[in-house]
Amino acid sequence: MDDKVRDLINRIRETATIAADAAEAAAKQVSQRTGETLEIAKLNMKVFDLNTEIGVSQREIGKIVYDTHRGRTADEEKLASILKGIDEKYEEIEACKTRISELKKSVTCQCCGELCGKGDQFCKKCGAPISK
Ligand SMILES: [Zn+2]
Repeated sequence: MDDKVRDLINRIRETATIAADAAEAAAKQVSQRTGETLEIAKLNMKVFDLNTEIGVSQREIGKIVYDTHRGRTADEEKLASILKGIDEKYEEIEACKTRISELKKSVTCQCCGELCGKGDQFCKKCGAPISK
């Protein structure tokens, strides 16, 4: 591999790690401020990111449609793959929302990490008392 290409890839990797650390720190702050669990804060951020990505994909589709209107040949394979990507992102958002509502209805066992009902006195998995 070309040295310049390798340098570039390493820099991109570094940036990705820094971005991931920043997202983690931001989620921690949100979770402390609102008193919600870190997992819920992370899921909400993920939903936000997915919606942003969907917006970007929708713009790409708009460009393809407009180019077609201007008489250019549409890249139908690209269009199909963008549409599929959007479908998958919406599915991921739904999964995040389901998980958020599960987390909001439950408490996490301090002993084993199992999700238990808010009204439970003992963990259904390990039997430890549920602290409220
Ligand atoms: Zn437990």
